[in-house]
Amino acid sequence: MLYPTPAGLYCPAGDFHVDPVRPVKRALITHGHSDHARAGHGAVLATRQTLDIMALRYGADFAGSTQAVAWGEAVDLGGVKVRFHPAGHVLGSAQIAIEKDGTRIVVSGDYKRGVDPTCAPFEPVACDVFITEATFGLPVFHHPDPKAETRKLLTSLVQFPERTHLVGAYALGKAQRVIRLIRDCGYDRPIYIHGALARLCDYYRAEGIDLGDLRPATVEKKEPGTFHGAIVVGPPSAFQERWARRFNEPLIAFASGWMMVRQRAKQGGVELPLVISDHCDWPELLDTIREIAPQQVWVTHGREEALVRWCELAGIAARPLHLVGYEDEGD
Ligand SMILES: [Zn+2]
Repeated sequence: MLYPTPAGLYCPAGDFHVDPVRPVKRALITHGHSDHARAGHGAVLATRQTLDIMALRYGADFAGSTQAVAWGEAVDLGGVKVRFHPAGHVLGSAQIAIEKDGTRIVVSGDYKRGVDPTCAPFEPVACDVFITEATFGLPVFHHPDPKAETRKLLTSLVQFPERTHLVGAYALGKAQRVIRLIRDCGYDRPIYIHGALARLCDYYRAEGIDLGDLRPATVEKKEPGTFHGAIVVGPPSAFQERWARRFNEPLIAFASGWMMVRQRAKQGGVELPLVISDHCDWPELLDTIREIAPQQVWVTHGREEALVRWCELAGIAARPLHLVGYEDEGD
């Protein structure tokens, strides 16, 4: 019904791939991150928001044809019934339920269980086979409260009122979530954003996500004092550029689940690591599997072996999928 191929998971009966990493005839896409959503497919089936995000990133002609699917709407593909359900990862992100002859497989895509007002929350879907991601699939990964992490940034602003606080956050999902978290912690001054975030922030706002007063972080046009003690959000790659050195005594922060790994923060020259993740941590992965109680768990992209072993010890059949090509841009 569904098996791994070099292009990605393939369903022969419905003749479609899920999140293919190569151009295919028909693709079902879980969400807009670049490792899952690629341009150049014949036909694409996804949520309207994912299609919008793909068009923003790749241009309107990113696929031969597109079809938007509403939450829970059943679409028949060659006798295979597919439905999209919220995954709680980024705006528009979906799990895909694939059903044939009374068997249901759910492909989680990337997902998380924590509160995130910038997207629809994960919806547990009963199934026979649950295909779960395992980006943070090791017992050491426990993500702290994202608001407590955000308050570290606001505390630092009080401690270093002259320094420009540069917050690294991936352009799709993480940046908007971090901005929303900063607002929810009571910060209502302007937040400055790198140009690479502008279109996606505009799109989130158009979809009803309030991000407050956002302004372009364009150094040339402003008085030098503008950015003293300001928050500037940008893609992490931008902080290696000359752009970042124009700010006053820049203090580099980075919002990512990987910031739990001290070595990663050190390597990236991150002074203020913020552990804010859009993926499940280890306890969330286990809770989700217990809640859904599938007969089988297939584990993909990430730390597959530990989660497979946990399932086996819990009496649930499990296997690693070893899919290649997924290096999430939005961890
Ligand atoms: Zn993702």
